[in-house]
Amino acid sequence: MQCLFCKIINKEIPSDIVYEDEKVISFKDIHPKAPIHFLILPKKHIPSVNHLEETDKELVGNLFLVAKNIARDKNLNGYKLIVNVGREGGQLIDHLHLHLLAGWKSPEEREIPKMP
Ligand code: AMP
Ligand code: ZN
Repeated sequence: MQCLFCKIINKEIPSDIVYEDEKVISFKDIHPKAPIHFLILPKKHIPSVNHLEETDKELVGNLFLVAKNIARDKNLNGYKLIVNVGREGGQLIDHLHLHLLAGWKSPEEREIPKMP
């Protein structure tokens, strides 16, 4: 059975896609925790950081490069990248993803949003 994010990747569930290539997809978080909140994930189903293998090194690097390029394209001067790992780390969806959070107007607002 496919996970929720695999269904989004396969376009079985709609999403607001921000970026897509052969190996990586990014879409808007449905319950944003910041004025700008994107999720960036590999199309390959990797449940979490704890499931990464040596052969995933390049893919993980690509996630960060996509984050950087999205931030550049959206003119984001600063942002947070957050990865929740496991239930006790706040991970609710078992498909590896980066949270890209940005768009706060003041330092107070910026203080770590509760994830999730
Ligand atoms: P995590 O807690 O790190 O697993 O993050 C999962 C994120 O997925 C949460 O921030 C949710 O708001 C988000 N989310 C859940 N369902 C959807 C959906 N259908 N489309 C976009 N984002 C979603
Ligand atoms: Zn998946």
